[in-house]
Amino acid sequence: MNLSETQVPIPPRVQVPKHPHWPAMSAGQKAALKDRIKRLMAEKNAVLVSHYYVDGDLQALAEETGGCVADSLEMARFGSQSEADTLLVCGVRFMGETAKILNPEKTVLMPDLNATCSLDEGCPADMFTAFCDQHPDRTVVVYANTSAEVKARADWTVTSGIALDIVRHLHARGEKILWAPDKHLGHYVQRMTDADMLMWDGACVVHEEFKGFALERLKRLHPKAAILVHPESPDEVVDQADVVGSTTALIQAVKNLPNEEFIVATDDGIFWKMHQLAPEKTLIAAPTAGEGATCESCAHCPWMAMNALQNLETALRDGTGEVFVEESVRVKAVRSIQRMLDFAASRK
Ligand code: SF4
Repeated sequence: MNLSETQVPIPPRVQVPKHPHWPAMSAGQKAALKDRIKRLMAEKNAVLVSHYYVDGDLQALAEETGGCVADSLEMARFGSQSEADTLLVCGVRFMGETAKILNPEKTVLMPDLNATCSLDEGCPADMFTAFCDQHPDRTVVVYANTSAEVKARADWTVTSGIALDIVRHLHARGEKILWAPDKHLGHYVQRMTDADMLMWDGACVVHEEFKGFALERLKRLHPKAAILVHPESPDEVVDQADVVGSTTALIQAVKNLPNEEFIVATDDGIFWKMHQLAPEKTLIAAPTAGEGATCESCAHCPWMAMNALQNLETALRDGTGEVFVEESVRVKAVRSIQRMLDFAASRK
């Protein structure tokens, strides 16, 4: 790699919002609200697609109504295969955009379009495009947590569940990679594949807060616990993991491993599904506090927390939070996403 290749742009500083406060509801109020949402969903032939990191009530509602609770790869697949006219996406904006890119004929609604992601915000399309233009010899691989415009500039879109397989495939073909935006996931993929990867300097504000030294101390207190780590976490956390993987892989580990205790380094919204599948297991959140922590995230994504039953009802009733993607961008972005979906299908 020559010197100019190492000059990676400095991305903008991301403003992290405070976690929203949702007023408490009695059991009766919550049941009534869920009934109203179900009626609206039936009227509009809508299906609910929720990410593992959103509130448990939204995950439960998705399952009760024939929708899906999944990681971003499966959310994209489910939305494409659904016959519903309206996709209700509970997650962050790139997930809604991906649903719209793959299903332009469907209405895609989200509870709050301000629910973004530090990776998406930290990778502006104009800056990223200029960076790509400086490296025309590299295959551009972007993480799903990016805007439609960034995906439109990419050769491949990947999720954490399939990133290793796709990069291994490209490396075997002798391709050099330009990777964006998550540097921690990128380092992990690079270490596992030995691929030549030039990295964007982005990070997830939730996973970056997990602390290696504090995890070591916690592990001493729970020596029999298995450590589960999402690869958006820093190297010193990944290096202590018994299992490194996507949200789906971590959930399966809780279900399938014989351990009774698990220390989990990912957004704690995932605990709802882990408890559902393995209620007898003990789940411990990996530490985010300690020396050097900014505690901006505290293991729960402030953007995922913008999704709630209350604003889901508003979005459905009033048609707010509709996702639009400009057609000229969509037709380019769909190529990099479809390439991933086709690759995943070919591996099944
Ligand atoms: S948890 Fe991290 S990667 Fe996921 S949406 Fe929030 S900021 Fe983005």
